[in-house]
Formats: sequence, C-alpha cells, structure tokens
Amino acid sequence: MKRASDYSQETRLVQLGVGVDERTGAISPPIHLSATYRHPGVGESTGYDYTRSINPTREVLEKGLAELEGGARGLAFSSGMAALTTFFLHFSQGDHLVVSEDLYGGTYRVLDQIFANFGLTVTYVDTTNTATVAEAITDQTKALLIETPGNPLLGIADLAALGQLCRERKLLFAVDNTFLSPILQRPFEFGADVVIYSATKYLGGHNDLCAGVLIAREETLGEELYFLQNSTGAILPPLDCWLLLRSLKTLALRIERHCKNAMTVALWLQQHPKVTDIYYPGLEGHPGHELSRRQASGFGGMISFRVESEELARRVLKHLRLISFAESLGGVESLMTLPAVQTHGDIPETERQRLGICERLLRLSVGTESVEDIIADLEQALV
Ligand SMILES: *Cc1c(COP(=O)(O)O)cnc(C)c1O
Repeated sequence: MKRASDYSQETRLVQLGVGVDERTGAISPPIHLSATYRHPGVGESTGYDYTRSINPTREVLEKGLAELEGGARGLAFSSGMAALTTFFLHFSQGDHLVVSEDLYGGTYRVLDQIFANFGLTVTYVDTTNTATVAEAITDQTKALLIETPGNPLLGIADLAALGQLCRERKLLFAVDNTFLSPILQRPFEFGADVVIYSATKYLGGHNDLCAGVLIAREETLGEELYFLQNSTGAILPPLDCWLLLRSLKTLALRIERHCKNAMTVALWLQQHPKVTDIYYPGLEGHPGHELSRRQASGFGGMISFRVESEELARRVLKHLRLISFAESLGGVESLMTLPAVQTHGDIPETERQRLGICERLLRLSVGTESVEDIIADLEQALV
C-alpha cells in the first residue's frame, strides 16, 4: 500500500483530511467545536483535553502543514502576526536578530515598538547581499529572519548561502515564505529551521480568512514553539482551521494560475510608457532572476511597479474597476495597494525613502481572473 509521503505534494494537498473521521468515513473532515473533553478516568485522556492545547480539526491542519513543508511540527495561529510574535517569544532579553529590511511592515512594527521594550535588538539589512548579512552578526545574534522575495520590492535572497552562513555561525534561520508558498519554494531544503506564513495570503487564498503558520524542521524546536503557542494562546479556531484546510486543497491550482497571470501582466506593464520601474523576479532584467530560477519553481503572483508621478499612482487606484484598491495579497481576487501609505506606513519616512518605497510605487497582487480582464483594467486606469 502507498504511504501518504509517496504521493506528490499536489495529491497530498487535495487529500488533506480525507478519511481522518473513521467512524463516518467523511471526505471533508469534521469541525470539532468542543472546548473540552471527557476524561475516561483520573490520569487518563483520549488524547484531547482542552482546545487551546489540542483540537482535532487543528491537528489535521497542523499535521498536513508539517508534512507538506517537510518539517517535524506545524502550528496554526490566529494570524501571521500571531505566528511571528510567538516566534519572537522564543528569544530573551539581550538577544539580537538580523532581519530583512525589505520586510512586511507589521513585522517591523512588532519588533521595533513591542519587542524592543523587552530588550530584543534587531539589525535590518539587505538580505539579498549575503556579505552584508554576515557583517551584521554579533556575539549576541541568535537568528536570521528573511523574506524572499522581499516586500514590496521583491528582492531575492540566496537561501543556500544564508543557510550555510547560519550553520557556520550557529544561528536559527527563519524564512517568512508567505509570498511563494511551499508550492514554489521550500526553505528547509536550504537549511532553514523555521518557515513562517501569513496564511491570510496564498494559503487561505480567498481574502476571507486571517491565519498564520509556523513550521519547525526539527522536533525539539517544534516542541519549544508549541509550548509558547499553548502558553500564550494565539491558536487558530476550529472553523478557521477547516476553512484553511479546504483552501489548501486548491493551493497548487491557484498558484499555477497566479504565476501565469503575473508573468503576462509583468510583461505588459514593462512596455507601458507610464511605468518607470518594474519589480517581478520572473523578468530577465530583475537582479534576482537567475537566483530565483535556481531556488524556486516559480516567480509568484506579486508585482511592484513605479509610475511617472505620485498623482498618477493615486489616479490609478481611483480608476481601477476590476482590481480592488485594498491591502493584502495572495487571494483569487486581484488587489492593488500603495505600500508607502498602507502596508509599510509604519516604517519611518526616511527609512522608506532609503528603501525606495515612495508614493509612486504600487504593489499588485495578481489574482486568478482572466488575464485579459486584468490587463484591460490596468490599461483603462493607467491614463
Ligand atoms: C501579511 C503578512 C504578514 C502578517 O500576516 P497577518 O496574517 O496579516 O497577521 C507577515 N508576513 C508577510 C510577508 C505578510 O505578507
């Protein structure tokens, strides 16, 4: 008989949860809302005691996530920020982290405005340059956290080189893999210890769910992170676990379409006279193009671009009809945002200017609609 791990990733995704309810044979796994469980006797347990600690629906999801990513332990949280916060709680006063500067604004905010008060120090660096990362490491450094592709400028960090650096310097290597998903990029294969997701994005994929994920490669770290999750409590509720399970079944299909649409849109934007800069790793002119080909199996659905003027950027957002002017990304519906004002508004102005997150920069999450309709909407808005 075939074991689950003999099947391809796509097949395993589609089959998540099938057959877990032996009593009924349900194809779609049941949603267990029970907050607590009867004990057969003193000192005895069915394996389920209390829903914060363990819940059967969350368990199906977490096991599936761990297996898909190729890690020992998966943990589902109430948001991406809850997952990241729990990861940061792993560190102590006086510890130092090296973190990507091209980073989700909320991660920057939680480190700078909350964890700084508890004595966790952070250096933000250009993680697309491995030498710069090495220079930022001190005796207090405990971990490297990167996003690749970066956000919003989609710079590509060298996962293999950074994995090796972390091994040599005995640092925990964490990758926020939200932009590509495990379908396109598998950080554990390059030595990452923890993979982090905002499952609100591609994993959820329908702009109807807020969730986060941590996956640990090794059991020991997985146990430590589970201890923090259970102690602090930012778990994903059972109904949302089920929604995320259902979303994962179509992840491979969706990602394929996101990539295809994004490539077509990027090529179209690249030749548009009012577009002055474009950032998409799938374009040959992108500085991370070759690296991206080597370490990921696709370029994803995110594109950032600058237009001629700040006025034009604002006009585009006003004129969009099909594409929604909204924060977030990774859903089947196309969304566009102005990072300087929205997603990255909490990064200090001078820092934003240095990074190139100006008010001419737009970020597009290319959805799975017909690509002709997406381009037609951009064409009528870019006037
Ligand atoms: C959205 C996002 C987060 C935060 O996740 P939430 O689910 O919004 O809490 C973290 N990292 C990246 C890369 C994101 O895009």
